Amino acid sequence: MFAKIPERRMQWVRWILTGGWLLAIASLFYDPWTSALTEPNHPWSPLRLPNTCVLVQGQCLSEQPYPLGTTLFWGAIVPAAIFILLVFGHELWRRICPLSFLSQIPRALGWQRQFKRENKKTGKIRYELAKVNADSWLGKNYPYLQFGWLFVGLCGRILFFNADRLILASWLLFTIAAAISVGYLYGGKSWCQYFCPMAPVQSIYSEPGSY
Ligand code: SF4
Repeated sequence: MFAKIPERRMQWVRWILTGGWLLAIASLFYDPWTSALTEPNHPWSPLRLPNTCVLVQGQCLSEQPYPLGTTLFWGAIVPAAIFILLVFGHELWRRICPLSFLSQIPRALGWQRQFKRENKKTGKIRYELAKVNADSWLGKNYPYLQFGWLFVGLCGRILFFNADRLILASWLLFTIAAAISVGYLYGGKSWCQYFCPMAPVQSIYSEPGSY
């Protein structure tokens, strides 16, 4: 169904989703507005905190209003991505994924690593785009790399990202920088194929098992 949607329209969807995602990351650094929605006295917000306190070891701790960036990320952005993946499949998700889109920036700008090759007979020099060699260490072991990175991400979520919005934002920016770097170093969809820690998860969700 979505395969028929023209690429130009998909490009708009990618821009909108990527812009929204970058805005959500920026809000993790600076957001003086959304905590107003969690104020206990807010007239209509469904996210307002209750006027009761939380009892911890007999002490009454009152909850403080908080910015909504992390709530939005874990409660809406990540579930929405998984929903699209499960319901509409990986093919659609790959076409609109903001991280995949950002990994294509070097290609769009014509900044891709190239190798110089000389034809020994004619002496002519030509340039070839670098790509992952299927016989290289990376070409053979990329599933371990992806799972390793996924493991680090899951442990990081429990230990750091959930508790500190700046660490979450830094991790997301680091991942974006890594995707753009891979786009420069290897071109094509190398980030999705060989590096992205979400790739094995998506395979489990969206592909039939081979055994
Ligand atoms: S493999 Fe990663 S970057 Fe590529 S579409 Fe999936 S989530 Fe996005």
